[in-house]
Amino acid sequence: METEYEVIIIGGSYAGLSAAMALGRSLRKTLIIDSGKPCNSPTPQSHNFITHDGKAPAEIANIAQEQVLKYPTVAFYNGLATHASSITKRL
Ligand SMILES: Cc1cc2nc3c(=O)[nH]c(=O)nc-3n(C[C@H](O)[C@H](O)[C@H](O)COP(=O)(O)OP(=O)(O)OC[C@H]3O[C@@H](n4cnc5c(N)ncnc54)[C@H](O)[C@@H]3O)c2cc1C
Repeated sequence: METEYEVIIIGGSYAGLSAAMALGRSLRKTLIIDSGKPCNSPTPQSHNFITHDGKAPAEIANIAQEQVLKYPTVAFYNGLATHASSITKRL
């Protein structure tokens, strides 16, 4: 696994995946770290999201993950981020 990324996104559900898609398409080397515990996990069906009405939340997330990970600039890591620090690096 690579260890250098331009962006690390903590949380790989809808918000994190959406951000990763925009970044990956902009050729930013992006890592998503996700612990697999979305807030909507208790609900069997999702509503008010046009074209996805009635789908299970996990199904929507799986489709999103599949689409985002088609971009070679984006990587996904299953795990819990427990620490973060900043590194100043001149490009
Ligand atoms: C019961 C319920 C029903 C809902 N029904 C609907 C609906 O029908 N229609 C609708 O439009 N919206 C619905 N919502 C709202 C919708 O689910 C949320 O708006 C949406 O899930 C928010 O997405 P998110 O990516 O911000 O957060 P989440 O989906 O909660 O994802 C956060 C992710 O970050 C990960 N994470 C957090 N901390 C860390 C860490 N330190 N390291 C690694 N990973 C981490 C978690 O494991 C999780 O996967 C519902 C919400 C709930 C609770």
